[in-house]
Amino acid sequence: MRNDIPTQLLFDEAAAIIDRVAADRRLPHERLALARLHGRIAAQDAHAPIAQPPFDNSAMDGYALRHADLLHDSDTALQLAGEQFAGRALGLRVDEGQCIRITTGAPMPESADTVVIREVVRVEGDRIVVPANVARGANVRHAGEDVQVGDRVLEAGHVLTPARVATLASVGIDALSVFSRPTIAVFTTGDELVPPGMPLAPGQIHDSNRELLMGLLRADGLEPTAWPVLPDDPARLQSMLLDAASSFDVVITCGAVSAGEKDHIPALLGAHGRVHFWKVRMKPGMPLLFGALDRALFLGLPGNPVSVFATYATLGRRLLDGLQGRTEPRRRWRARLSAPIEKPHARREFMRGRLDAGDDGVLHVAPDAVTGSHRLHAAAQADALIVVPDGPQSLAVGAVVDVIPY
Ligand code: AMP
Ligand code: MG
Repeated sequence: MRNDIPTQLLFDEAAAIIDRVAADRRLPHERLALARLHGRIAAQDAHAPIAQPPFDNSAMDGYALRHADLLHDSDTALQLAGEQFAGRALGLRVDEGQCIRITTGAPMPESADTVVIREVVRVEGDRIVVPANVARGANVRHAGEDVQVGDRVLEAGHVLTPARVATLASVGIDALSVFSRPTIAVFTTGDELVPPGMPLAPGQIHDSNRELLMGLLRADGLEPTAWPVLPDDPARLQSMLLDAASSFDVVITCGAVSAGEKDHIPALLGAHGRVHFWKVRMKPGMPLLFGALDRALFLGLPGNPVSVFATYATLGRRLLDGLQGRTEPRRRWRARLSAPIEKPHARREFMRGRLDAGDDGVLHVAPDAVTGSHRLHAAAQADALIVVPDGPQSLAVGAVVDVIPY
């Protein structure tokens, strides 16, 4: 490797490089129909062309009336003057001493200001007897009380959650500009890898990272493409990776980025592409490699399964969020340690832990006693990564730590 390549960066330095590169390589916009917006990142603000609700309407099934017609301390009998159901506005009007039968979502008749729910009235033919103590304005939803015309209902850079897509629908927006999704090629590497379902010869293991990585990416709404397993052969690595890099936005590999005899990828990237950084002061995941190859960004994750987890959940996801123009921060989670942590080394550590929503309303996290970045099953029984900050740390029970649920 040339020696001008940044290695052994602090985690935050690596994150800053990821952010800068992602901002430079932000993906183009595309305009999509409403039904396809779910999970995407908005590339534009959206403003409401209409108010929501668009008209005053009833919040309940009952009777629309004029509050001024009600007696203060006894029942009032009103004349039933018509029916207004949800749907077409009939342009009805309530005159003195009258009421109109109304359903939830139906437009309020003119001059009515209150709805009394059907369960509390007595119906005597076409006379409706309303009890005392109905509050003025009860059960009426007012035009614009949720959204006014021109309000910003969605911000560029924010995620289109189901509620946000539905909000767009409610104000009649049926298409929006969003950031494109990156196309992603996923490779696992290693002469020892055999697909599940095939017998293992001595020295071989099953490829588990492929499913780990594909699952993590899919859970983030992406549609990665799995490529064949790469052997530890420089010529084959080169031709397959260059092939993928010519047509995908992001190439993600795992394995072959450490310092072993067969770890060919850093040199390959140095020779044929560009290395933004190699090696980050984090644990697990120290050999993480980031650069560019042909038209693709290149993320070389270490081979140990738990390292794949830690590097993807932190810097990998950050890169993909950045490429998609996401400015809305991911929700930050914090918990209190239910066992102490002693960390003598300086690297930022991502330790597996189990979350527990305590009866005291406080989220607790128990660090996993099992360590070792090969312990996939142990990782599968945990449900969060505990972020142990840079520098030696001695964290007591009850200390507040950042956690990344998974
Ligand atoms: P490497 O970074 O290639 O040296 O791999 C580090 C460790 O992770 C080795 O024990 C590999 O056998 C293991 N490993 C690499 N890739 C995979 C994979 N796709 N599935 C399971 N284990 C893997
Ligand atoms: Mg390997």
